[in-house]
Amino acid sequence: MSQSHVWHPFTQHALETAIPEIVRTEGAYLHKADGTRILDAISSWWVVTHGHRHPRIIKAIETTAASLDQIIFAGFTHEPAERLAKALVGLAPAGLDWVFYSDSGSTSVEVALKMALGYFRNIGAPRSRIVVMEHSYHGDTIGTMSVGARGVFNAAYEPLLFEVDTISFPAAGREQETLDRFEAVSRDRRAAALIVEPLVLGAGGMLMYPAWVLTELKKIAEASGTLLIADEVMTGWGRTGTMFACEQASISPDILCTSKGLTGGVVPLAATLATDAIFQAHYSVDRKKTFFHSSSYTANPIACAAALANVEIWRDEPVAERVAALSAMQAAGLRRFRNNANFTDRRTTGTIAALDLRTGSAGYLAEIGPKLRAFFLERGLLVRPLGNVLYLLPPYCITGEELDGLYGAIEEAGDRFGSKP
Ligand SMILES: *Cc1c(COP(=O)(O)O)cnc(C)c1O
Repeated sequence: MSQSHVWHPFTQHALETAIPEIVRTEGAYLHKADGTRILDAISSWWVVTHGHRHPRIIKAIETTAASLDQIIFAGFTHEPAERLAKALVGLAPAGLDWVFYSDSGSTSVEVALKMALGYFRNIGAPRSRIVVMEHSYHGDTIGTMSVGARGVFNAAYEPLLFEVDTISFPAAGREQETLDRFEAVSRDRRAAALIVEPLVLGAGGMLMYPAWVLTELKKIAEASGTLLIADEVMTGWGRTGTMFACEQASISPDILCTSKGLTGGVVPLAATLATDAIFQAHYSVDRKKTFFHSSSYTANPIACAAALANVEIWRDEPVAERVAALSAMQAAGLRRFRNNANFTDRRTTGTIAALDLRTGSAGYLAEIGPKLRAFFLERGLLVRPLGNVLYLLPPYCITGEELDGLYGAIEEAGDRFGSKP
């Protein structure tokens, strides 16, 4: 290819010079221009659920594009958005009756934060503090970086980030500390909301905590009138074994964010679901109480049709069974490492499996990250470690044989790069 003008995301162009070109995607694979293919073991950054280009989703896009493209969504509506909203309310935890559309995970979280603050202002009891969990990730905009972990990713923007209250990550054996801290910071009733990634903290290193902690956090939030925002951008659509991770804690959050798997990972779309109480706080003849938010591409009809096709796939195909089978295969795959001293902290929640490579250096910028990525790519595998954290988060169409190959490559990587104690 001739000189590129593309500035890639999370890419240090001075170090990554050869960027492969993909010409076709299908199922669990990315096909390169040179005719070889790459097994997509991370669902192209956690978005693809069933597999690339599920025929039913592609068909829905084609059919809808024959009659609709983007239309303004303030003051207008369309069938794909109406039908999808109804379907989402039916699938989400009970009590989330209103659907606000946007176009990415980050915007769905921005919307959630603004809904929470708007709610308290409109009911005449302003609250403006946000409580966050240590090691969280909620997006890359200024607002979502503010509620996420601070580090090398946002050091340059730190002066613009707003202040938050942080509760510790509920590591095994230290869960009570997290709950006590939340109780303490919510006592003065200045916290508008607690925002959490339910069960699995993705970008923070695939850190996992048990469902009962989420159940307890919800109880504490209720007692102090603090809203609970569940950022299910990564965990939704079967990733953790259930449609939404909150189900495993038997809770309904006040606000739920969904994006990555919403269209099966084919086209961008996001939704923020809210309770009727939050909607009613904005429902008024007083225009000042309007929810002042919009993205240009809000509720894109073609994207909504793709999401509807995704919902129909969940309804008509044995997706839940596939998710259960993949979850079992992931647990079995990790058992291979029981006596492998190159790795620590084997963990799995639903279809997500992770383990930490023992190395001299840890953290996202550890040299080991790019080395491992290259190691897997040479073997036709897309695995993108978070520092020394190796994880597999594959599309649900992956086969046992393909998964076996991946675990074999991880063992090999351990032998090559691991440092046994
Ligand atoms: C990826 C992610 C986001 C941000 O989504 P984008 O579509 O990349 O803006 C937010 N929250 C969580 C938990 C995520 O994993």
